[in-house]
Amino acid sequence: LNEIKNKKITVLGLGVTGLGIVRFLLSQGIQPNVVDSRENPPGVDWLKQHAANLNTHFGDLNNAALSACDMIIISPGLSLKTPAVAQAMNAGVEIIGDVELFARINTKPVVAVTGSNGKSTVVTLAYEVLKTAGYKVALGGNIGTAVLDLLDGDFDVFVLELSSFQLDTTDSLKASSATVLNISEDHLDRYDSYQAYIDSKLSIYNGAELLVINADDRQTHPVSRTLAPQVSFGETQGDYHLAQHNNEAHFMVKGEAYLPVSTLAVVGKHNYLNTLAVMALLSPFEITKAHYKTALVQFNGLAHRCQFVGEFNSVKYFNDSKATNVGATITAIDSLAGKQQNLVVIAGGDAKGADLEALKPYVEQHVKALICFGKDAKELMALTAKGHLTTNMSEAVALAKQLSTSGDTVLLAPACASIDMYNNYMQRGDDFVHCVLQELP
Ligand code: ADP
Repeated sequence: LNEIKNKKITVLGLGVTGLGIVRFLLSQGIQPNVVDSRENPPGVDWLKQHAANLNTHFGDLNNAALSACDMIIISPGLSLKTPAVAQAMNAGVEIIGDVELFARINTKPVVAVTGSNGKSTVVTLAYEVLKTAGYKVALGGNIGTAVLDLLDGDFDVFVLELSSFQLDTTDSLKASSATVLNISEDHLDRYDSYQAYIDSKLSIYNGAELLVINADDRQTHPVSRTLAPQVSFGETQGDYHLAQHNNEAHFMVKGEAYLPVSTLAVVGKHNYLNTLAVMALLSPFEITKAHYKTALVQFNGLAHRCQFVGEFNSVKYFNDSKATNVGATITAIDSLAGKQQNLVVIAGGDAKGADLEALKPYVEQHVKALICFGKDAKELMALTAKGHLTTNMSEAVALAKQLSTSGDTVLLAPACASIDMYNNYMQRGDDFVHCVLQELP
């Protein structure tokens, strides 16, 4: 901390993360400049009330004199390639994220999780298990609380969800255990190439004491030889995997049938894999089978992830608004598909430059109708003859109701970000639920 006390610091980006950074710096007696490209960024009212004396610049970043400071603490929402930011970096300004600042100060163990899909589920379950086992545990990062807001709490361990954007500005995180759960195409609008996105994810392993890799996904394996020990999880292979034992599917831990998968309250193969990842990640901690049993039985999953909305006229409705990329939509289709083509899928939004082609075989095999709307609806329509173009959620839900018959499942799994029409995926999921409940008796 002393290292930054005498520096001229700019906080760039004033969302949840940016405000967390400002609050933390103020609590340390540091007065940062605050800059945002928006004329009226979301945290501005808080700033006016609590720190009206800070220098601020809201609007065009080219006029923000970013190169004149010593350090920029940047929000994950802003790309390092933004011209004004790149220029400052070239001028020698140090650019870090809030997770990096956290890492430089924190002395407690960190469990770090990244991946294209399953992050929030894994960190939340890990948090619940650690809590059940009596640890004082903090959950944050890309989920809920910004990391710096957690620093002054009395915690034994931090469980952090980290996005690739957060990892891009983090160098010093030496996690007790770290995982890249899986990698599939996402965020190609912010990376030069798919490989650059993969490299960003893999950087979570830097300095970690235990690497948890996905045995079924080679892309999650570290490329450089590293001295840290590795454990793996996978469907049928790896130190932690799934297998039949006494005619019942079990979580296998290093050769032992540890617990039946039915212990877990939520279903879906992806959730079994997420549970195996948690078991591997938490292997450095003191956790008994009884703790796992309690935590797994109680875990209800998270809202907007294959969440059951209700059953009307023998049609089930599921909200998977958090499926913001192709990989997640494939998972959702896979876990809800029946023997017949019983799925009516609502998809669309901003595909973030991703190639949607991988969806095609799943749509062919399991989907009865693909109802599309949003910015990249046409790209989805091009995948299949089963496409229906609509303009908004309420139209999409009304059509889903018409097209579905007894025994079918209607699934919102957009394969796209929501930002073209909504503030976030939660709002999109709420809109779906609202339309479902309104449209139906
Ligand atoms: P993230 O935080 O990485 O976005 P979530 O836990 O919020 O992940 O889950 C988002 C969506 O990704 C879920 O709704 C589900 O469709 C899918 N998903 C969850 N776990 C996995 C997994 N292990 N592999 C593939 N897809 C998954």
